Amino acid sequence: MIKIKRGPAPKFMKSTIVKSAKGDLKDIFESIQRQERVRIEAFVLEEVRGNLMKMCHSKCAYCESGIGKTGVGEIEHFRPPSGARGMGKEYAPNHYWWLAYEWDNLLMVCQICLKHKRDFFPLENESNRAAIGATGSELKNENPLLIDPCSEDPSQHLSFSANGVLEGKTKKGKTTIDILGLNRRDIVLERHKTADRFNRELQILKNEASSSTKDVLEYISELHSDHPNQEYAGTLRTVFATWLKDNSELWNSLTQKSAPSISKISKQANKANKTNAQSYITDREKHELNNQISQIKRFSIKSIEIENFKSIDKLTIQILPTGNLESRESWLLLLGDNGIGKSSILQAITLALAGKNNSI
Ligand SMILES: [Zn+2]
Repeated sequence: MIKIKRGPAPKFMKSTIVKSAKGDLKDIFESIQRQERVRIEAFVLEEVRGNLMKMCHSKCAYCESGIGKTGVGEIEHFRPPSGARGMGKEYAPNHYWWLAYEWDNLLMVCQICLKHKRDFFPLENESNRAAIGATGSELKNENPLLIDPCSEDPSQHLSFSANGVLEGKTKKGKTTIDILGLNRRDIVLERHKTADRFNRELQILKNEASSSTKDVLEYISELHSDHPNQEYAGTLRTVFATWLKDNSELWNSLTQKSAPSISKISKQANKANKTNAQSYITDREKHELNNQISQIKRFSIKSIEIENFKSIDKLTIQILPTGNLESRESWLLLLGDNGIGKSSILQAITLALAGKNNSI
């Protein structure tokens, strides 16, 4: 989760359609039907789907997974409109219907986060629950235990790490992780894989003359902008901050030549480096997550030998001729004329890595 810049409400939110939908909810609440669950007119909010998608950079506002991979995305009410649940038995059945069509209460999220969140909206102290119809500072004073990525910086409450696990720095951070399931297995693994990939890309910078340097610098600049398109930008920023600690000289020399936004990036990276946070993750949770992570087997390919495969009689490629893992470079390209057998080499590697059971 990262900070999201909300921007002003789209014009549509002031239209007669929205005004009338708000009026209907008020009537329902004030009438004898007040016990009914609030029914949101979905078509009204569909009008601002595109705006929300843009605001959230096509990612889930909570878990930062790309939207579109697994669904079209869900319009989420930060404060639930049909009754709000605390972490215990607390339940406020009449909250927060009056925010059902308020731009500031809307987010774009993935289906899984939506399922986890349900109608949870716990407060530090239940007696601070705002009065019916409250807005502005009255709502702020509720001190919710759920991070609103549009009104506060999640990194104040969450700590990211390259292994993909999120930790709560504060009670609010910890509760947010619990409610939204931000350490669910698949997402931890995705964050971990994304961090790994980025770490490999950062190695490209060690070769200052590499033609990919500019691309990596642009990627880093985008990552630290107000509108990062990368999935799991929170984790990636931490990966970069960690890399920067050991490579500040290289970074200075690179950015003197190119990227103008260096000071902003360094500032953000330093902020991410501060690790004086209190950790709320339990040892058992840590143990389980580490087990899951260790299931991803990692190794380096030192050489490839292909024999009697398609048009290849015998071929040996030494990838690590010196055997020195520290100074290795990532392999990015396999160059050769058309029909020379590049695809055959890749197929042979795939078959070998897939193992006997997965080969057809
Ligand atoms: Zn999500």
